[in-house]
Amino acid sequence: NAQDTRALVESRLAVIPDFPEPGVLFRDLTPVFADGEAFHALAGALTAPFAGRFDVLAGVEARGFLLAAAASVAAGVGVLPIRKAGKLPRAVLTEAYALEYGTAALEVHEGELPPGTRVLVVDDVLATGGTVGAAARLVERAGWKVAGVSVAIELDGLGGRAALPDTFETYSLLQY
Ligand code: AMP
Repeated sequence: NAQDTRALVESRLAVIPDFPEPGVLFRDLTPVFADGEAFHALAGALTAPFAGRFDVLAGVEARGFLLAAAASVAAGVGVLPIRKAGKLPRAVLTEAYALEYGTAALEVHEGELPPGTRVLVVDDVLATGGTVGAAARLVERAGWKVAGVSVAIELDGLGGRAALPDTFETYSLLQY
């Protein structure tokens, strides 16, 4: 159940002070990815709250790729890579978002999925919400529907949840 998964994932999570810069407490999921039982449980926990309400998972580059790919295989659905700008070879939609200093952009192939496809957006960490917010806007602009946002970790106090539209559900397994 979700409580066991929380305890298992939390026991494997690495927490690194002052990475990548002073003042940031970095939550590193790589030990969770490296543990078969924890990774399998986490992948299942991300989709369980949305059972029957999504057709495809979207993963945000790069850690979101791992989670979305694992969860999509477990759920028997496809996966949509939401990539950093400049990586996709065909016609793309681009959505910019704010970083602490400057901006970045995410892209998807237009027409990759049929119109109206229900897309569940997956990432590792929800901080300010800029990243998954841009991913959700891409899904809508492409003519698909955001089935929800699901993340392993939500950092309270950075306003991420409030920054996202309330037209879809946002789920996090762990909150700090
Ligand atoms: P944001 O766009 O502010 O919600 O930031 C989310 C992205 O930044 C996620 O894709 C995370 O990979 C990364 N991130 C932000 N803060 C942290 C943190 N404290 N620990 C680990 N990753 C983080």
